[in-house]
Amino acid sequence: MSDIRFSKPWSAPGELDNLTRALASGHLHGDGPFTAAASQRLRDLTGTGKALLTSSCTHALELAGLLLDLQPGDEVVVPSFTFSSTAAAVAIRGATPVFVDVDPLTLNVDPAQVAAAVTDRTRAVYVVHYGGVAVDVPAVRAAAGDDVVVVEDNAHGLGASVDGRLLGSLAPLAAQSFHDTKNVQCGEGGALLVNDERFAERAEIIREKGTNRVKFLRGQVDKYTWVDVGSSYLPSELQAALLLAQLDAFDSIQALRHRVWDGYAEALPGWAADNGVRLMHVPDGVKHPAHLFYLQMPSHEDQGGLISALKADGVTATFHYQPLHSSPAGRALGRTGAAGCPVTDRAAETLVRLPLHPGMTEADVQRVVDLVTSYRTVAAVPARAVLT
Ligand SMILES: *Cc1c(COP(=O)(O)O)cnc(C)c1O
Repeated sequence: MSDIRFSKPWSAPGELDNLTRALASGHLHGDGPFTAAASQRLRDLTGTGKALLTSSCTHALELAGLLLDLQPGDEVVVPSFTFSSTAAAVAIRGATPVFVDVDPLTLNVDPAQVAAAVTDRTRAVYVVHYGGVAVDVPAVRAAAGDDVVVVEDNAHGLGASVDGRLLGSLAPLAAQSFHDTKNVQCGEGGALLVNDERFAERAEIIREKGTNRVKFLRGQVDKYTWVDVGSSYLPSELQAALLLAQLDAFDSIQALRHRVWDGYAEALPGWAADNGVRLMHVPDGVKHPAHLFYLQMPSHEDQGGLISALKADGVTATFHYQPLHSSPAGRALGRTGAAGCPVTDRAAETLVRLPLHPGMTEADVQRVVDLVTSYRTVAAVPARAVLT
């Protein structure tokens, strides 16, 4: 039996064809026809006004920090339970990430914690839709106040929605990732989504080395020149060619991923109840994108225990984010309230993500389910028969 990997990049049918066409076109630098077509697809999938492809989600978050003119002394509220980029993109501007805890049900930033963390230096809140399950953005906005800009780190949530509203369009700015561990990938890549007109023109300029080249390409100015700060955040046409093929296959990718996610969700509740395990929670009105499937084990010992039991049978499952507030850089560059982030600490020590990628067969899903359900947690938990 071959091993089951945790994650595996999936090849879209049109990829090689698109790459060949891009190579033959003689236009390999950014902002050519593949970038234009991929940006249009992305606008459709996120309901956003403007989609600017970038070299990564990290770079899209940095671009957001430049657009917000983050300065030393400014504060940005971020969850402690996220990938380092969410906070690093704040710290690279010299601003201070202020870490808050997450809600135990969704592991998304808790609006009450945001309200408690806001000061007169708070400029923004960077929220993360964990597993593509929507953050309550209106509640975060209300908690933060009108002068504070909410930015969505939507690395997990492409195509997901809440009450019919697409993630990536819920706040003035949002960042996507096309890293090869994400649902849609081009090796390394990302995008900044701009939902507020006041950021639109400057975002194009900062992304193009501080020049007004995009206006020149549109024929709005007859020369282009240096007009603002900026960097080189755009991907080449080769990346965009891969990305377009993936976006064109989005429905197939999602169907394959949902089949795996649904297989776990149908098979595991009885075992979870018997063993004191909590399965990933999806609130009413939320459509998740099958980006990940996680379990919260009753103890740290059971986190290691389940991961080892699966590994012994060639199946890779894994923990997730380690708390940023207590990380070396988080302590040196950020700030945390006196209460710390106990929910984040607990999630780091107990969470297990199961393998989930489009290449998994039904037999693979069954094999993972069989292995998981034959694991017994260490903590004694009453059998379901006793409970019912
Ligand atoms: C993957 C990820 C990132 C970073 O994405 P890159 O494209 O690799 O820069 C940022 N935030 C979250 C929540 C992620 O999952």
